[in-house]
Amino acid sequence: MGKPLIFNIQKFSIHDGEGIRSTVFFKGCPLSCRWCHNPESQCYPNDLLCYVERCTGCGACVKACPQKAISLDDEHKAHTDYDKCTACGVCTEYCMQNARELVGEEYEIKDLVKQLEKDIMFYEQSGGGVTLSGGEVMAQDIDYVEELARRLHEKGILVNIDTCGYAPYEHLKRVLPYTDVYLYDLKLMDPEQHKEYIGVDNQLILENLKQLSADGGKINIRLPLIDGVNTTDEHIGQVIRFLKDNEIRVWQVNLLKYHNTGSSKYKKLGREYDGKNMAVPKEEWLQQVVETFKQNGFPNIKIGG
Ligand code: SF4
Ligand code: SF4
Repeated sequence: MGKPLIFNIQKFSIHDGEGIRSTVFFKGCPLSCRWCHNPESQCYPNDLLCYVERCTGCGACVKACPQKAISLDDEHKAHTDYDKCTACGVCTEYCMQNARELVGEEYEIKDLVKQLEKDIMFYEQSGGGVTLSGGEVMAQDIDYVEELARRLHEKGILVNIDTCGYAPYEHLKRVLPYTDVYLYDLKLMDPEQHKEYIGVDNQLILENLKQLSADGGKINIRLPLIDGVNTTDEHIGQVIRFLKDNEIRVWQVNLLKYHNTGSSKYKKLGREYDGKNMAVPKEEWLQQVVETFKQNGFPNIKIGG
């Protein structure tokens, strides 16, 4: 059984399903959304994050790097050549300022469960639990994910799966017996636009959603809404039509407002942010969307996760 990398375990989260939750973020995703606010989640291997503002220019990392990927610039800040960097993590051990961080860690399932069950009292009192997210949790080693979900379920912890749906259907099905709710993203309905903004078309995502609904999965549909990309009445109409035509059993619809809090991370990873013309949708339009869903027979609709 392979061990996926996990890049964050967020405790006391209130945005990834009902109640108080711990959210486990798996590293690696088959999509490349232009607005992704966790760019460190996108590739499967480790990433190196550099906090240049913390660097004092001591030069320890320059000497330590086996790839000779680091140099001090004119302002005496460590500059990393990401074409040479192999994300080996050696430099992180030499930096006393914590200006360099390796993203992604392996966990034994038993250790992860032990850590997650510490908050079982909060889950029980609030109707919360554990959310497995990413990156894309369904596009990881499924033996590992299934076993993790099974053990949490065995302990009475409610498990949510936060997914973009772009994975073999078998993966979604294997966790079904241990999953309370699937948080299922629908980002764009037009296949060409989907390809343009996300890198792949949406056929697999839509087919998996139909199948998951037919197999009895409890589903929250999550719509990331980004002005400049998908905040049109046409897009909302397409979502509603798809859900109705295919009789998708929707438990809740979540409208997720765009935010660009992750944009500064791109620089720390030596990358460019590609979401320059994107903006937060207008409040009046969101209210209108809420009404449209209600009028179409989706009463359980929420702004936020
Ligand atoms: S992670 Fe490794 S290769 Fe990359 S800069 Fe640090 S020491 Fe060099
Ligand atoms: S070890 Fe840390 S503080 Fe020293 S030069 Fe490298 S990044 Fe800067």
